Amino acid sequence: MEKKIAVIRGDHSSREFVRETLRVMDRIAEKYGHTFRYVDVAMGGDAIDRFGEPLPAAELQKCKECDSVLLGSVGGPEWDSLPGDKRPEKGLLALRAGMGLYSNVRPATIWPQLAPASPLRADIAANGIDFVIVRELTGGVYFGEHKTENNGTEEVAQDNMIYSAHEIERIGRIGFETARRRRKKLTSVDKANVLDTSRLWRKIMHQLKEEYPDVEYEDMLVDNCAMQIVKNPAQFDVIVTENMFGDILSDEASMITGSIGMIPSSSLGDTSNGVYEPIHGSAPDIAGKNIVNPMACILSAAMMFRYSFDMPEEADAIEKAVGAVLDKGYRTADNQSEGCTVLGTIEITDKILEEI
Ligand code: NAD
Repeated sequence: MEKKIAVIRGDHSSREFVRETLRVMDRIAEKYGHTFRYVDVAMGGDAIDRFGEPLPAAELQKCKECDSVLLGSVGGPEWDSLPGDKRPEKGLLALRAGMGLYSNVRPATIWPQLAPASPLRADIAANGIDFVIVRELTGGVYFGEHKTENNGTEEVAQDNMIYSAHEIERIGRIGFETARRRRKKLTSVDKANVLDTSRLWRKIMHQLKEEYPDVEYEDMLVDNCAMQIVKNPAQFDVIVTENMFGDILSDEASMITGSIGMIPSSSLGDTSNGVYEPIHGSAPDIAGKNIVNPMACILSAAMMFRYSFDMPEEADAIEKAVGAVLDKGYRTADNQSEGCTVLGTIEITDKILEEI
C-alpha cells in the first residue's frame, strides 16, 4: 500500500522521538512492502517561530490532504508568555477542530515488565490495568465561549460548557462500538447530579444502550470515577466521557500505568484520517540529550496502522517488538529499575528495529 502521512515534528524532545518513530515506520514499510511518503507540517512553537501562528491554514490543509497524521508534541517555556490565541497548544485545538476529530482514544495498559513503576499498591497493579478512555474532543467547556470582564468591582471570568444531543450520540456510539470490540463493558462518566450538560449526556446514553444489549452498561459520576481508577482499575474496560472530564481522567489513568513515556493515543472523526500522538508533552527539560523515551510515539504509529490503515499485522509487529525489548531488560532512563540496561533514545529504537 502507498500512504501519505503528515508528520508534525513538534518542539524540543519531540523532534528526537518523532525522528526515531519514522525509522520504525520505514522498517515496517520495508518489511511489509508498503510505501510511506512523509509530508512535513509545522505546528506549535516551530510554526510560531516560522510563520507567527501555531497552525497556519496551509499547514492544516496539508494534514487534511494526507491519509493520516503523526504528531509529536508541541510547546516549551519560550512560548509560555505569548497571549492565549498565539500559544502552541492553540495549534492542537485548531488541528482537532479543523480535522473534525471528535473522539480521542487512550489506552491505559500496564506493561507487566513495568508494573513495579506503577504508583499503585502492588496487589492492585497485579490485578491488571487494561482499559481505554474514549474522550469527546471538540465540545464542552474547552470550546464554549470564554470571557473575563470587570463588573465594576472586580474581574469575573466565565467559560461556557455546551453539548448538543448529536455530539453526545456520536461519541456515545464510539464508546459502545469500542466496548463491543473489547470485553463488552462500558462506563459512561458524567456529573449528572449537578450539570445540565451531564443530564443530557445521560439521557442520550440511556437511549443508545437499548441498541447495544450485548454491552454491559453503567453510569458513574466523575468524582467517583477518579477514585475508582486508583482503587480498583481492573473493573474498567471502556470509559466514555466528555472533553474536560476525559482530559483529567486520562492523565490519572496514564499515571497509574507507571510511565508517561509508554502511552499512545488516537484522535478520529468521521473519516479514517486521524491524528496519532504520544500523550506526553515535549519534555523540554531533557531535549537534546538522547534520553527521551520514544516508545509512546512509536506505539502511536502502531495505532495508526491498526485504526487508519487497517494494517493489524504491522501494528502487532511494533507492539510485540516493544514488548520483546522490555522483556530483554532494555529501558530508557525514565523507566529504569534494578538489573535493567539503560539505553538512549536512538539505541533503544535500534533494539526495536532488530526485533521487527
Ligand atoms: P511533559 O510531558 O513534556 O513532561 C513532564 C515530565 O515527564 C518531564 O520531566 C519530562 O522530562 C518527562 N517526560 C515526558 N515525556 C517523556 C518521555 N517520553 N521520556 C522521558 N521522560 C518524559 O509535560 P510538561 O513538562 O508539563 O510540558 C512541557 C511542554 O509540553 C509544555 O509546553 C506543554 O504545554 C507541552 N505539552 C504538549 C502536549 C502535546 O503536544 N500534546 C501535551 C502535554 C504538554
